[in-house]
Parts: sequence; C-alpha cells; structure tokens
Amino acid sequence: MNLVPLYKQTKPVISFEFFPPKTWQGIAELYEHFRELMKCNPGYITCTYGAGGHTSLDEVQKRTLEVLRWVRGDYPNIPVVSHLTCVNATQTDLRDYLCKAKELSVSGIVALRGDVPGNSHLFVPFPGGFRYAVELVRFIKSEFSEFNILVGGYPEKHPEASSLEEDIRHLKEKVDAGGEIVLTQLFYNNEDFYRFRDLCEKEKMNVPIVPGILPVTNLAQVKRITSLCGAKIAPILLERLEKHERDEEGQFSVGVYYATRQVEDLIQQGVPGVHFYVLNRSRAAVHICRALTL
Ligand SMILES: Cc1cc2nc3c(=O)[nH]c(=O)nc-3n(C[C@H](O)[C@H](O)[C@H](O)COP(=O)(O)OP(=O)(O)OC[C@H]3O[C@@H](n4cnc5c(N)ncnc54)[C@H](O)[C@@H]3O)c2cc1C
Repeated sequence: MNLVPLYKQTKPVISFEFFPPKTWQGIAELYEHFRELMKCNPGYITCTYGAGGHTSLDEVQKRTLEVLRWVRGDYPNIPVVSHLTCVNATQTDLRDYLCKAKELSVSGIVALRGDVPGNSHLFVPFPGGFRYAVELVRFIKSEFSEFNILVGGYPEKHPEASSLEEDIRHLKEKVDAGGEIVLTQLFYNNEDFYRFRDLCEKEKMNVPIVPGILPVTNLAQVKRITSLCGAKIAPILLERLEKHERDEEGQFSVGVYYATRQVEDLIQQGVPGVHFYVLNRSRAAVHICRALTL
C-alpha cells in the first residue's frame, strides 16, 4: 500500500513505532499493547532495526522480520514499515533483507545510516556497504521501487552535524534521492520543530514532515534516550517530572499531559501526521489519541 496518499487526507495520520523484543515476556507484552494501539486506527506501524544492540547482523534482521511477519499475519489490513540501517551490512546483505521485506509485502522502508556501534563516535562504513543514508535511499529506489522510502530528520540537528542548515542540506539530498516522507527524531520543544519545518520548506522539500513524539512516562528512561539522541527535555517538563522522582504514576501523568498539549499544538499548526515512539507500550499513546479524538 502506498503511504504517501494517506498524508493528503484532512485527518492527521497516526503511526506507531515498535522495537523487536528480546525476551518471550517482551513478545507477550507487545501482543497486548499492540492490540490496544490498533484501536487508535493508525495509518501504519513501523518496526526498528538493530538500534542499540550488539548482536549479529543475522540476529538483527531476524528480530525485525519476526515482528513484521507477525503483524502481517495477525493484522493484514495495517500497512507495515521496516527500518533498515547501513550498520555492518554489505550491499548484498541489504538486498537480501529488502527481498525478504518484499516477500512480506512491507509497504515502506525507513532508510537510515544507523547509530555508530559501541561507544565510538565515528561511523565507519562497512566494507562493501554505505557511509550515508542517502546512498541507501538511492539503492532502494533503484532496485526496489515498490517500497515507499521514509527518511530521518532532526529538528535539533543530528548530533554529528556542524549546523542545522548543513544537516538540512543533507536531508534535502535524501529527499531528492527518493525519500518520500520525513519522520523526525523526538523533540520536546515544538518551536524546534517549526524552525526545522520552515527550513525544509525553504529548501523546497515538498514531502510530509512528520513530527516524532516520545511521551515521557519514565524519567530515567527518557534521560537515557535523550542523552543518546541529543534531544533536549524542555525545562518545564523536567522540573515537573523531577517533582515526581519517586512516583511513577505522577511521572506518567506529567508526561502524558505534556505530550497531549504538544501534539494538540502540532495539529493546530497543520502537521500531516504524528509518529509516536511508543517503546512497545500502549497506555500513553492511547491516552493522547483519545484525549485529542485522533
Ligand atoms: C525516525 C527515526 C528512526 C530511527 N530508527 C532507527 C533504527 O531503527 N535503528 C537504528 O540503529 N537507528 C535508528 N535511528 C537513528 C539513526 O540511525 C541515527 O540518528 C544515525 O546516527 C543517523 O542516521 P540517518 O539516517 O539520519 O543518517 P544520515 O542521513 O546519513 O546522516 C548522518 C550524519 O551525516 C551527515 N551527512 C549526511 N550526508 C552527508 C554527506 N553526503 N556528507 C557529509 N555529511 C553527511 C548528516 O548531516 C548527519 O550528521 C532512527 C532515527 C530516526 C530519526
């Protein structure tokens, strides 16, 4: 199914991002949370690929494919999108994966460079693979035209980029190469997103720019994630969360309230959709979608 026309509808498109669980318990919980999230009628769901893991390429690919296969089997009407990175993969490995994704009738691929494995800050391309996501975009476009191609964008700039403007020039290259939808990194200050969107418009990127939202439901976890991806937690949000340092329900309420206001403002400002980083949990996203009647 072609995902781009979804963004032409008047209602914002909701998408949910999952990650492949590592344990049986994680899989069982995912089933439950997935069922709840499907009640929000998402336009599509995405599954991450290899993020933060230290497993072999085979294992990384198997895990993502297992989630995609399960969703295709149990929810045949919901379009699925696979993330894919250049980490530790030759072009042959990437082609093999894309063939398997095609067999599963995956609708789209989020084409990413991937995070630098281990603690290093320098991305070293794998021999016979790619250095930048734009090369993966070109590869998919030339060999697998059936997929929609989605790419990552960074409202607060990618941590390795020297400036937001430079980073946006590289985003423009990904769009020109075939990126049809931009999903952004999570952020907690909508002004950062609006500035980013304005710059994308200035560069004539005529594609849906979809904000990525991670509702904070656990302060420690979000501090870890934001330190990894370079996003800032808004001071007012942090202050309120810290007042509930030992109270998980309190953190949940603050996080969901903040994200609901954030999403409401984004929708008022005309975003074509919202991509939720649900971290395999349903409660926060379901609250937000219900509260805003999405
Ligand atoms: C929506 C979304 C989903 C994600 N899902 C995953 C996932 O499933 N698995 C995972 O491992 N990671 C995931 N990530 C994280 C992502 O892999 C990292 O942020 C990674 O560091 C960069 O990936 P990219 O595709 O944006 O890279 P690129 O677009 O290649 O950019 C990486 C850096 O290189 C610069 N650059 C790009 N092109 C050039 C060029 N031609 N010359 C010089 N510099 C250039 C950019 O400005 C940027 O600083 C996701 C990120 C987002 C936003």
